[in-house]
Formats: sequence, structure tokens, C-alpha cells
Amino acid sequence: MFGAEEIRKSMSTILQSPTTAPGRFGPYGGRYVPETLMVPLFELERAYETAKADASFQAQFQNLLANFAGRPTPLQFAARLTEKLGGPRIYLKREDLLHTGAHKINNAIGQGLLAVKMGKPRIIAETGAGQHGVASATVAAHLGLECVVHMGTEDMARQALNVARMRMLGAEVVAVDSGSRTLKDAINEAMRDWVTNVRTTHYLLGSVLGAHPYPTMVRDFQAVIGREAREQILAAEKRLPTHLFACVGGGSNSIGLFHQFLGDPQVKMIGIEAGGRGGQLGEHAARLAAHQGFVGARPGVLQGTYTYVLQNEDGQIATTHSISAGLDYPAIGPEHAWLADQRRAEYSAVSDQAALDAARLLSRTQGIIPALESAHAIAGLVERLPKLTKNDLVILNLSGRGDKDMDTYSRLL
Ligand SMILES: *Cc1c(COP(=O)(O)O)cnc(C)c1O
Repeated sequence: MFGAEEIRKSMSTILQSPTTAPGRFGPYGGRYVPETLMVPLFELERAYETAKADASFQAQFQNLLANFAGRPTPLQFAARLTEKLGGPRIYLKREDLLHTGAHKINNAIGQGLLAVKMGKPRIIAETGAGQHGVASATVAAHLGLECVVHMGTEDMARQALNVARMRMLGAEVVAVDSGSRTLKDAINEAMRDWVTNVRTTHYLLGSVLGAHPYPTMVRDFQAVIGREAREQILAAEKRLPTHLFACVGGGSNSIGLFHQFLGDPQVKMIGIEAGGRGGQLGEHAARLAAHQGFVGARPGVLQGTYTYVLQNEDGQIATTHSISAGLDYPAIGPEHAWLADQRRAEYSAVSDQAALDAARLLSRTQGIIPALESAHAIAGLVERLPKLTKNDLVILNLSGRGDKDMDTYSRLL
């Protein structure tokens, strides 16, 4: 195995010509998988390239986004929040209103349709908090696919309601009892399942992570968020936003919002990570916030992709902490690593407590209880207020609703 430094050096030529390899974002991304997975990844890449250009696939995708998931989602002016904060005009992109309660359904529909197209009757997924598992099980039921979700036993205990949802939808939930019994162990188990059953099975990955083509494909499926938001803000305000805010776990809702604005240098993009309980390794899940004193992130390979990874000095993957399960992951999507290096997007982290306070703030000003993940984006906006003016115009991605977090809110608020 190569260490992060060797890989970084060997990538330096690619760094100078970021478009040389498919699936590269500068030096990041790529396809670091066992040989047995190269064939299915090539197959998936081809199928996706074909589907992208296929009008009937796109029509099916748009149809399900509209009639099953509930798109387009509103871009709502947050009048009372704007007044309360006294700074920029704030609009909320309401992904919380989608079927199953978050943006994850956009990607699950896209990949579910692709599984059908590839003739694969079985999908597998891994899940931490259970949100991606529920989205996958939902789409599988709708399309008549078999669905197996790998989940750590620790997470199954914490997220019993989502386990019941997946089973109600006809999915099999496989308990993973190895390692820390959480998301990364579930991912390892899903990988093993895929290697074994690759002929019949599509691996439905939930964020812009993993080997090529996943980071690009998942981004494309989520880019509908930014396409809608751009049209909606132009209709409402006759100008582009000055700032975009979104929380960053793997990075799919944020890149989904950002992507359509990458060509507009006047639009600042701010990704908010989980600062957890503090800067020490193990206390947070902030991979791109070293400038704020969050230690432990260096480029490295995790689960098939080269990106910033929280690790100890020996390159062992660190444990992470966040109050929000959806942000609690040691790596970040490779495109974000590249956007951060180029300073095209900025990243900062907010604490568990700041996210809780922000969740209460949004609930009481707007009558919207946000998911804990989305509450991080709100906290990020609150912390940045001193740098913003009344002339600024903000779009904040409300990635999900707070129903799933009510236990945490009632315990801690
Ligand atoms: C899963 C999840 C996230 C984090 O995932 P990304 O890929 O970073 O978007 C954020 N918000 C909600 C509501 C989620 O369920």
C-alpha cells in the first residue's frame, strides 16, 4: 500500500492537467478498488454515459422526480429568519419537502432506473442513520427491485424506526457486527456483497463518494437542485445569489446546489462540516477545516477514492463524531477536495451545539424543523453574519426535515 504522501507525489503530474483522466478532480477521485470491481465499474460507467444521452431515460428520471419525489421543490424566501438575523436576504431550497424527507431520493431514483436499464434485479446499499437505506428501499419497491441494505448493529439500535421502514418497504436489512458496527463497516460489507454478486447486483451508493463513476454520476443526479434554484432565484430577485450555503457529509446535497453556479465567479459557495465537540481527532468530522484548528485530515484513499481523509499518523482511518449521523464520515467527496484546494468553494465547521441552536432558530422563525445535518448549514450562515451585508443574497439548501431527529432534539433542547 502507498501512504498518502506517495500517492500525492505520484499524482502531481495530474495536478497540473486536471482533465487528463476520467473521474479525476485535479489529483482527487479515481478508481482505487480491487481488480474484481474494475469490470462492474466500467460497465456502470458505460451504462451511465449511455443513459445520460438517452432521451427516454432522462424522461423517466424527470417523471419520477416530479410525480414520485415531488419536484420541483420550492425556493422559499425566509422572511422572519431574514428579519431576525438582520443581514442578507435568505432563501431556503426546500429539499426537506421531498418524499422520504431529504434530497437522497433524487440520487436513489437515478441509480434505481440505471439498475433497471442494466438488467440488474437486485440493489444493495449501505446506510448509517438509515436515510439512504430508506430512500433505496423506497425506490426499489417502486421499481420492483430486490433490495438489501447493510447496516451496523450499533446504528440499527440507534435508528430502529428507519430499520422498521426499510422492512415495511420489503427490503432485507443485514446486520453488520464487525469493527465499530457503524457506517464504514457497513460499507465494507456492501463492497464484499457486490464483489460476490456483481452479475445481478447494482451497488446504490448514497453520496458523491467511492470510485469513478460514482462521484460524477451522483453529482449529476443531484444537480437538479442547483438548476431549479438558479431559475427560481432569477425569477424572484432578477439576480444571482451572492452566497450558497449547504452542509457537507459526503457532499451530495452541497455539490447538487453548487454545480450549476460553478461558472459564476461572483457566487460564493460555503460548505459546512460537522465540528462535533472540538478540534481533536475523534471529536469531529471536519475534513476541510484545518484553518479552524480541526486536526487530522490529509489526502489519502478511502473506499475507492483519493480525497481528504481523517486519519492518524500511521494513516489509520480515524473515528469521527457528530451529533448528526449524516455528516459523521471520515472522508469527503473528491470534487469538494479539489474545489477547496482551488479556493472555488470555502469550507468551515460548526459545533454540535451551534447546530442544535440553529435548529431551534429555524423552527421558531420559519415553522420548519430541519434535519440536524441541514441545521449545520444554518449555523454556518449565522456564524458568518459579520461578513455579510444587507445587499447579499443567500440560498441555503435545506437538505432534509427533522422528524428523524426528534429524539435528539427533545433530549437536548
Ligand atoms: C445524508 C444527509 C446529508 C449528508 O449527505 P450529503 O451527501 O453530504 O448531502 C445531509 N442532509 C441530510 C438531510 C441527509 O439525510
